[in-house]
Amino acid sequence: MKAIAVKPGVEDSAHLIEMPKPKVSDVPNGKGVLVRVLRVGGCGTDREINDAEYGTAPDGNDVLVIGHEAIGVVEETGPNVKNVKPGDHVVATVRRPGTSIYDEIGMNDFTTDETYFERGISRLHGFMAEYYVEDTEFIVKVPAKLKDVGVLLEPMAVVVKGIAQAYEIQRRLRIWEPKRAAVLGVGTIGLLAVLLMRLRGIEVVAFGKEPGPYFNSELAESGEAVYESTAKVPVHEYAKQHGSFDMIFEATGYSPLVLDAMQALAKNGVLIMSSVTGGDRTAEAPIDKINQEFVLGNKVAFGTVNANREYFEAGVKEMALASIEYPGWLERMLTHKVTGIDNFRELFDTLANGKNVVKAYLEIGTENGRKSGNA
Ligand code: BGC
Repeated sequence: MKAIAVKPGVEDSAHLIEMPKPKVSDVPNGKGVLVRVLRVGGCGTDREINDAEYGTAPDGNDVLVIGHEAIGVVEETGPNVKNVKPGDHVVATVRRPGTSIYDEIGMNDFTTDETYFERGISRLHGFMAEYYVEDTEFIVKVPAKLKDVGVLLEPMAVVVKGIAQAYEIQRRLRIWEPKRAAVLGVGTIGLLAVLLMRLRGIEVVAFGKEPGPYFNSELAESGEAVYESTAKVPVHEYAKQHGSFDMIFEATGYSPLVLDAMQALAKNGVLIMSSVTGGDRTAEAPIDKINQEFVLGNKVAFGTVNANREYFEAGVKEMALASIEYPGWLERMLTHKVTGIDNFRELFDTLANGKNVVKAYLEIGTENGRKSGNA
């Protein structure tokens, strides 16, 4: 079968490879699920991996099959698979257990191991292939009505986890009810964060680099969020003029904005940091002031990565709710479709272009079992 792989550490090395089609029996104990891949999303992390800033090949391999956001159809299951059957639409989670105590209790997204295992990112091949096999434990069923937007479930799970963790942390406050939030970044993660906060009735200001209006800013505004450009006004300046934020979700991929966001938090506020930044940027900031305000205002900033099964399952429910409250929002996020695995280069070109791109994805297979495009 065909797959797309990179040579980690080598810039722009994405290429098509031929590899054996996996088998259900590759997973022990009869728990294997063979999935035919329909769509695979591309994201900033894939771009970083192809830019040689991130990503690790599996032990003993010099290539890594990329892709960690995929929706597919179950083709075959092992004898001990109970939760899905052939024909079901499914998404696989990304991170796999290591050895720490958190891994042992099913919280592999909180591993304290130095090395971590993520399909398509770190030490495990990913899903940008015609097929993959996975243990049923890591397979989440998506209702057929959400199959077209199912490619958004992995980033949705990241956002669901970030927000759930914020509420979990804020239980320290007993009666915390966030009223005003900011979302930094209006890419896939940012727009999903806007959506989830709006579903909770929170007032949202979405910040992007580009001055509006453009596709992403208009999508945020269609959910009654306010859009503002950080090129026009820094987040902390905006907060000074219009009021600070109870919750901030940072998803720009540009780490200096974390320092900006820290200065825009309200007392008792919480900052969710979700950008994976593989670079080596440094920045200057009024750190005495930030520190003092954090101390005297009981503020929290925390990082959040990936998500395990419970957040994927919660993500399915959020998508169902979103399709009722904000019909068409998720579909509109699918801005760029590249048809056929052979055309993967177009996906990277689209990811590099940025503006007006929300989710670019590669369509590898189609519902009727045929390969997409000229693959
Ligand atoms: C992925 C996560 C992953 C993280 C760090 C993100 O782009 O969506 O699944 O945990 O990168 O590797």
